[in-house]
This record gives sequence, structure tokens and C-alpha cells, in this order.
Amino acid sequence: MESEKMDENEWSYHGEGNKSLVVSHAQSCVVLRFLKFLPNINKSTEEVYQHLHNILDFGKHIMKQFLGENYVHHGEVVKLPLDFLKRLCLKVQSERPESRCEKEMDVSGYAMCLPNLTRLQTFPFLECRPIFCIEIKPKCGFIPSSAHITKEIKKKICRFCMHQHLKVAKGKWKRISKYCPLDLFSGNKQRMHFALMNLLQESQNNLKIFKNGELIYGCRDDQEHFLDINELAHHLKPFLFPASGLISGPQCPKTVVKELIHILTTVLLNNSTDTARAANIMPFIPLSQGRNYCEASHFCPDLLNSKHVTEATGLPKGCILYKTLQAQMLDMLDIEGLYPLYKRVEKYLEEFPEERGTLLLDGPYDETFFEKLKDLSLEDDGSISYAATKIQQYRVAMTAKDCSIMIALSPTVQEECLDPRSVIRSSKSSFIHSVSILDLDLKPYENIPHQYKRDSKIVNHYLKSIKAQE
Ligand code: ATP
Ligand code: ZN
Ligand code: MG
Ligand code: MG
Repeated sequence: MESEKMDENEWSYHGEGNKSLVVSHAQSCVVLRFLKFLPNINKSTEEVYQHLHNILDFGKHIMKQFLGENYVHHGEVVKLPLDFLKRLCLKVQSERPESRCEKEMDVSGYAMCLPNLTRLQTFPFLECRPIFCIEIKPKCGFIPSSAHITKEIKKKICRFCMHQHLKVAKGKWKRISKYCPLDLFSGNKQRMHFALMNLLQESQNNLKIFKNGELIYGCRDDQEHFLDINELAHHLKPFLFPASGLISGPQCPKTVVKELIHILTTVLLNNSTDTARAANIMPFIPLSQGRNYCEASHFCPDLLNSKHVTEATGLPKGCILYKTLQAQMLDMLDIEGLYPLYKRVEKYLEEFPEERGTLLLDGPYDETFFEKLKDLSLEDDGSISYAATKIQQYRVAMTAKDCSIMIALSPTVQEECLDPRSVIRSSKSSFIHSVSILDLDLKPYENIPHQYKRDSKIVNHYLKSIKAQE
């Protein structure tokens, strides 16, 4: 980016996760995504540059194959003037939630420049209209069935629902959420409605709503909701019920929220024509009975309308949830089956450290890497190559379990000639929409032992807490 043009006053704090901090530009539809590090970690400029390039390559060459061209924006690595970075870092510091400040924004000179997905990318000419963007971090949508699992409970209760108990006990959240990812990924409209309603009621960090690019709803980590659900409905009403909204029509907040949920469900189940290459190469791993229902879910199957009983369940093959789920299911062994393979590779690397490159543990994320991911065989011949393949598949799956789906919606006017595929109709109005997936950084190899420990911690805590309740 051109140094003389960079003015920190044109950028503002947009959000952050555990690994990166995002600032958005006031006028143009772009964001800058910076890496974050613990203060004592000194990364060289070269290392940061390499890391960002790896993220870009991984999105471009690997995740696009799974999720489809249109959903993934890999962005570009940009070099920024150091004085601009110092001023920007100071400027955003006061806006950061305290719970995220353990890590610092990297100011070594590089960042990722991405389209601002909270604004409609494909329709820049519509900028003057209101735009709502709903970000959903759906988490893992299936119950594992690996033979390596030692705790039976993992085959009944999903990871998200078990983890809730630990998170509440540790004070991360005040209440247990009734959202269960398996309801969202079920493809059954009633279960999906139930999941989305619970996400709206107890958003935690799984749902955020932006209006014209600004966060208006959802937990900003430790802070409470910005708005309550009635206030949210108030914002949404003129948008979802345009005719009556301005003069405060008869729709109550509940109707407005239901309408939003209806639109989100339609978008999430929408069959994209966009072809993800992996969709054809990877045979669908069928969700056998029981693997698509979590016993901790608050959805009561008796609630299913009789007319819905005949409704086909399962996700349409081209929809965003299906594609995400498929990538998640590359985790076939579960961490319990994977950890011994990690140890096998570690032992090997102790003896032959120079082989790390051959195993592609740090990339490059290219065609060769992608080809290896396609080997779904579960026959362990004791080789390093088998272990490495399963590790890479696991890392891709973990990435898909942690990504966010961004749904941007903007009202259309009747006369417009738009691509019908981008138009979503609801009872009272129609919208152009765009769907994208963000946060597609490959999870590090080094994280595996940590994942292993965390898994048993979550399960043990869950077992303890339900026992205490009995
Ligand atoms: P996690 O802790 O989930 O791994 P992370 O540190 O990898 O998160 P991101 O999820 O990429 O960070 O970004 C943090 C937040 O910034 C997102 O949840 C989203 O709200 C916002 N964000 C990130 N990229 C974009 C984008 N391209 N357009 C709009 N908003 C974005
Ligand atoms: Zn669950
Ligand atoms: Mg994230
Ligand atoms: Mg991330």
C-alpha cells in the first residue's frame, strides 16, 4: 500500500479473535487483518511475511477446493509503513476488549488485505442501501464415530455441548447456550430454526450482527450484548417489513426475529452452482444414524410437525453447510486416534529433523498438498506417510470447525435486473445476498498435544458436572 496515503484516521477497530486483529476502512470496502502475538514472542518481519503467505496459499489452493471459489476470499499480503502501524496500533488499543489484550497486534510491517465481508462485496453500487451481515461461527456439526474413542459419551453428546459446561464453569460465559451445532447442520428446517433462535438468544462468540459494517449485536467477548433481542428486532423491522416498518407496523419483535431466521435458513440451504472441486473428488461420508443428533440438544424431536416428518432431512449437496461439514469430517480418527500418529511423527522427526519439509508440515500449500488430502483410507500400515496424511486432514478439519460464515443481506427494489441466484425472497421483501467464509487459517501442527489434553479436560469436566446434577 502506498505509504503517503496511509492515514490511521481512516481505519477503525473492527474485531479480533485469538490469532488476528481486524481494522476496517471508513470508505472503501476493505479490512486489514493483522497477526497477534504474545508480547514475549519476537517474530521477524520475514517470519510474519511467510506466515501470511502461507495463510493466503492455504485459502487459495486448499480451502477453495473444499468450499468453492465464491465463498472464499484469500486476500493479499500488503506491506505497510511502520509509522502508520505504530499510530494505528495506539489508536485501536483503547477499543480492544480486555480479555483479548493478552496478545499484541503485530506491527512488523505486513498484514492481509481482504474485502470487508460485512458489506456486500459483489454489489458495490448498492452501498447507499442498508446492509445487514450475520456472522455465524457454527463449530463442529457431527458426532465422531472413530473406533479410537475411549469415552462413550463422545458418541452421544457433541463437542460444543460438552464444552459449554467447562466454559461456564471457568467463567468465560454466564449461561449455557441451547445452541447445538448438530441442529444447525441437520438440514431440517425446524431444527435449524431452533438452532438459530438459540444462537440469537445466547450468542456467545458464535453469532454477530453488523449493520452497515458496524457490530450491533452479539457478545463482544466479555461484554454483554450490545442490544437485546427486542432492540435488534427494532433495527430489523424496517428492513424485513419495509412497507409497515417505517410507520411501526403490526409485527411484533418475535415475528421480526422469526423472519430473520427464515431468511438465514433459506440462505444456508441454498444450493450454490459454484463447484468446489473436492465435492466431486471426496465421496460423501454419510452421517450414519445417531451421528447427526446430539443427546444434549434441547430440541425435542416430538416437536417435529407431522408434515415435517416426511420432509427430507440432511443438507443439499451444494449448500455452504454441507461443504463446511464435509471439510470438518476429514477428522475421521478423532483426536484420540490422531494423537498416537502425532507422536509417531514426532519420534521420527527427532531422528530425522531434516525430513520436516518432506512431510509438508509447514507447507507449501499447493496442488501436491491438496492431492494428499484426498487419501481417505483408514488402513494404518505403520508408516510415517500414513501418519502425516491423517495429521494434515485433521488440521484442515479443525480449520473448518473454527471458521465463520458471513451472510450479507441488502434489500432490492422491484425494477432491478439482478442475477436471480443472488436474490432471496421472503414474505414481505426481497434481498440480494452474499455468502462468504472467513477465518480459514490452517491450525498448527504444534497444537495437536494441546488439543489432546483439551479434549480429555472437556469430557472429564462434562462427566463430572452431569454427575453432580444427578
Ligand atoms: P479465531 O479466534 O476464531 O481463530 P481469528 O483470530 O482467526 O479468530 P478472525 O476470525 O479472522 O480472527 O477475525 C476476527 C473477527 O473479525 C471475525 O470474527 C469477523 O467478525 C471480523 N472479520 C475478519 N475478517 C473479516 C473480513 N474480511 N470482513 C469483515 N469482517 C472480518
Ligand atoms: Zn450438541
Ligand atoms: Mg475467528
Ligand atoms: Mg482463526
